[in-house]
Amino acid sequence: MSDNTSLDATGFACGACDTPLFQSKDIITTILSGAMGKSLLVRNPRTNVVFSSGEKQTRLTTGMHITRDIECFTCHKPLGWYYVKAFEADQKFKEGAYLIEKSLLVPVKPAAQPSVFSFLWKQ
Ligand SMILES: [Zn+2]
Repeated sequence: MSDNTSLDATGFACGACDTPLFQSKDIITTILSGAMGKSLLVRNPRTNVVFSSGEKQTRLTTGMHITRDIECFTCHKPLGWYYVKAFEADQKFKEGAYLIEKSLLVPVKPAAQPSVFSFLWKQ
């Protein structure tokens, strides 16, 4: 699959149902390469990403973590996982962040309705 995401997008939406998930300013890094391939590490996607599992111990290439699976709020497609806790000191920055596979996302262009995120993400 080609790289269909671009950092000049306003944000990113679920590739399956087009529900906006998070804004580009919420991305911490794009260089992570986890079990699922190229992924985005995102903080604060708010209400459109929901938990689909309880906390569990997960051994990743970067060490042991406590994670929860996440899915799209609208269509329930699995998107990645949430870092509850990291045990290695150099992985602590991932705590409280979401790992989302890039290939599951579509960009939301600036030409889209400017209010789309604030409307959908109302807490
Ligand atoms: Zn969806």
